[in-house]
Amino acid sequence: MYQFSDKKIQVGISSCLVGNKVRFDGGHKQSTYCQKVLANYFDFKPICPEMAIGMGAPRKAIRLIKDEDRIRVIASDGSFEVTEKLNDFCEQTSPLLTPFSGYIFCAKSPTCGMERVTLYKEGTNQGNRDGVGVFAAKIMADHPLMPVEEDGRLNDMLLRENFITRVFAYHKWQSLVAGGLTIGKIIQFHAAHKYLLMAHNPTLYYKLGPLLGGRKEPVEETAKLYIEGFMATLKTLPNRKSHSNTLSHLQGYFKRVLSSEQRVDLADNIDKYRQGLLPLMAPITLITHYLTIYPDPYLQQQVYLHPHPDELKLRYAH
Ligand code: SF4
Repeated sequence: MYQFSDKKIQVGISSCLVGNKVRFDGGHKQSTYCQKVLANYFDFKPICPEMAIGMGAPRKAIRLIKDEDRIRVIASDGSFEVTEKLNDFCEQTSPLLTPFSGYIFCAKSPTCGMERVTLYKEGTNQGNRDGVGVFAAKIMADHPLMPVEEDGRLNDMLLRENFITRVFAYHKWQSLVAGGLTIGKIIQFHAAHKYLLMAHNPTLYYKLGPLLGGRKEPVEETAKLYIEGFMATLKTLPNRKSHSNTLSHLQGYFKRVLSSEQRVDLADNIDKYRQGLLPLMAPITLITHYLTIYPDPYLQQQVYLHPHPDELKLRYAH
């Protein structure tokens, strides 16, 4: 059965989200979910770029300005500019984030916002919400595989589950890389994630397997292509239909071993899930129960059955 390491996973986070009073107004934006729940599994590494460049708190608010083809970061009243200082900080800090398995950004900030940050037209008070905070932009560009999310979006149960699933999967990949990659290890990793990938995006899943068969490139090149496809597949949100199809595949493994009563029970459970009458945890729990009675090594290694610790209670919203 898939085991979680008891060592916490390193995840970056905007410092104000863990309750540090580093915001421009001297306050914080503490995320109770991050601090009370996720902190049990994630070793949060808080970063406040604005404090790190010496802006202090409280301080004047800053904003993003679109100046022809470049983005500048200027005080809202125009009294100073921190573009260069912030960019230097981003350059120096970004490589340090390589061991992180995820990052949670504070929404809407001109420094940390992941999307929909107001980008002002120069010399006006008008702007469009199509900017990205300068620190978030740098981190996402330099670490395209690393799962990222914003505090507000984590309140959406499906986005929350998706982000956490990706953090655990990416962490597992990083551990594999740290231990030295071989094609055999990647194939094993792929086999263990088969049904998780299938539930997220069957089309992309079917494209991943051929990447590993009979390739002649150095293992690093195959690994790069594979993990890019792997993370893109997991980024797709699974839905009731894709989960139901995946569950039907799992059901097939028990055809010969279950009694007719158990078979009907499992089919009924999956069907009720398909109709929205039961949460995903119901058929998953039944399958893991049958697995303890009728062990199957291939199914037991499937990350799909335990993509994250059950205590996070993430599979009740599906
Ligand atoms: S959003 Fe980023 S820059 Fe702003 S207070 Fe939070 S951590 Fe600091």
